[in-house]
Amino acid sequence: VLAEALPEERAFEAALRPKTLEELVGQERVREQLALVIDAATARGRTPDHVLLSGPPGLGKTTIAMIIANQLTAPLRLTSGPAIQHAGDLAAILSGIGEGDVLFIDEIHRMSRPAEELLYMAMEDFRVDVVVGKGPGATAIPLEIPPFTVVGATTRAGLLPGPLRDRFGFTAQLDYYEPADLHRIVLRSARLLELSIDDDAAREIGSRSRGTPRIANRLLRRVRDYAEVRAGGHVDHAVAQAALELYEVDQLGLDRLDRAVLQALCGSFGGGPVGISTLAVAVGEERETVEELAEPFLVRLGFLARTPRGRIATPAAWQHLGLAAPSEVAQ
Ligand code: ADP
Repeated sequence: VLAEALPEERAFEAALRPKTLEELVGQERVREQLALVIDAATARGRTPDHVLLSGPPGLGKTTIAMIIANQLTAPLRLTSGPAIQHAGDLAAILSGIGEGDVLFIDEIHRMSRPAEELLYMAMEDFRVDVVVGKGPGATAIPLEIPPFTVVGATTRAGLLPGPLRDRFGFTAQLDYYEPADLHRIVLRSARLLELSIDDDAAREIGSRSRGTPRIANRLLRRVRDYAEVRAGGHVDHAVAQAALELYEVDQLGLDRLDRAVLQALCGSFGGGPVGISTLAVAVGEERETVEELAEPFLVRLGFLARTPRGRIATPAAWQHLGLAAPSEVAQ
């Protein structure tokens, strides 16, 4: 189970996305802060400060960007760092910006350096010089941009260079959700899907969702399939449990990738230390996938530790796999 949205999942996700700050479950502090930013700007008749949202995938960054545009009744433009590899790509986007627009840039840390520089000038001065041509013949064409708001999303704010980070007047760090919030998210999604579900079943799904609403919705979808085919459509606790077992999501919410990482770490590398790239190769995944999806969760559970020499498995990890840790063997 990856935390990135899969293509076939997009329409499903869109249907479940909260449309207002009130509908957003959890993240009370961020909600309150954002409401202030939006209300203050609206009262002043100005565009709000640029907003930076950081946090792991699936916690609601895109949702919040949509809500900001929605509450401002402003058009939303969506793009992403990987799509902006040249300053010219960004210049093209900026030249189409209207007054008050919200520009959402997902994975903003993955823009190229020249594009980054152009962006922070645009964010500060609402004016950039677009350089056309190369060498002595190059000319700078000034481009005026109406006031607009950038909402940037990144998995870690630390990945952004200081000058760009400083252009954001408001930064929100999204954190993993509490089980009670995930429970509410599952109940809310089930209601929207017109799926009949017991309270304890929703709680079970929420508690295996590793703090992530996207995963909660995804597990709910799998459980719904199971319930429809094998249980007459209603989800009770036993149905939820059986479905989650079938999809290899364990009681702590570990999925196949998480377990593969732990097994490689303990089995192939004796518990470490081992470099993240080596570990990623061992499980046949991209380094980024392991680093951004599996690792933060394993660290949070206290199963894996990052050390200067590499990743190591903690005694709790060995225990979870049902293995004896090397130190215990030696004793
Ligand atoms: P991100 O952009 O951080 O990867 P998204 O905004 O795409 O995450 O959210 C993923 C899914 O989780 C969406 O379907 C959204 O409906 C749901 N979701 C995220 N945050 C919340 C929340 N606070 N309350 C309810 N649903 C949420």
